[in-house]
Amino acid sequence: MVDRLVNSEANTRRIASVENCFGSSGVPLAMQGRVLVGEGVLTKMCRKRPKSRQFFLFNDILVYGNIVIGKKKYNKQHIMPLEEVSLESIADNQTYRNGWYIRTTTKSFVVFAATSTEKQEWMAHINKCVEDLLRKSGKKPVENHAAVWVPDTDASVCMHCKKTQFTFIQRRHHCRNCGAVVCAGCSAKKFMLPQQSTKALRVCDACYERLKHVPSSLGSGEDPAAATGAASGNKLNTTAGDSSNDEDSDEETASPGGESHDEPRFYGDSSVLSAVEDSSTITSPSSATTGSLEAPQVTPSVQSPPAAVATTGSHC
Ligand SMILES: [Zn+2]
Ligand SMILES: [Zn+2]
Repeated sequence: MVDRLVNSEANTRRIASVENCFGSSGVPLAMQGRVLVGEGVLTKMCRKRPKSRQFFLFNDILVYGNIVIGKKKYNKQHIMPLEEVSLESIADNQTYRNGWYIRTTTKSFVVFAATSTEKQEWMAHINKCVEDLLRKSGKKPVENHAAVWVPDTDASVCMHCKKTQFTFIQRRHHCRNCGAVVCAGCSAKKFMLPQQSTKALRVCDACYERLKHVPSSLGSGEDPAAATGAASGNKLNTTAGDSSNDEDSDEETASPGGESHDEPRFYGDSSVLSAVEDSSTITSPSSATTGSLEAPQVTPSVQSPPAAVATTGSHC
């Protein structure tokens, strides 16, 4: 039970410790009713390659940051409201295992756990928190998510014109609507994607043509026709990177790559693992009112079509 932790000293201490580790690079996290549910290191697909990031799961937000000194100092704090988070499992392939999508309206990316057990734990705890939140607020799960960016390494030529070879001079750009890697010539236009930003954002020519015919109330990804080659390929692409609005937000910092692996710690109810109905989707609030005594159910292994294999994606 996460609720029993609300007013516990241990919870207060843990949250203070997280605040300490972020120092002035983070915002205050302690708040009435907030519980730190779990923490640990996950590998996050960034624009150029997978990188270790420290994740903190609270009962209302998911926080992550770059690791400056393991367990001591983090920076580049990102906070994602759990209310709009949705997860989707990714089938293992030869290159990557134990991965899943984390999607929100403004940012979507792929993470990997060290083992399948840890993946199950993370997904179950996150899904449980999201379900609890939605049940309490009566809100519906968000369906309109930011595109997951195709990693740079997956595109040596522009995914739109298929001609421009990327070099130091011909830089890669990401369409904020579909996540495709495109050349400057094929992404010269900007479009308002209000869910992601109050400013117009770079979109590829294909998305621009489509978006300008769609009523502006529909945001990115709403139109099924938006599934171009790039977007649908993206959907199956297990190496998909980070849909960050800031192209340079994932620059290198000290990498903890050589450290031995620490298992994640979860402070809430360990029965979350067996109570989870389907770790790949969020159940609607109405279906989640049957209480916590559901029959344990093994999370089905997702059999999705073979994913695009990264060419040179992994450097660590
Ligand atoms: Zn192009
Ligand atoms: Zn596009």
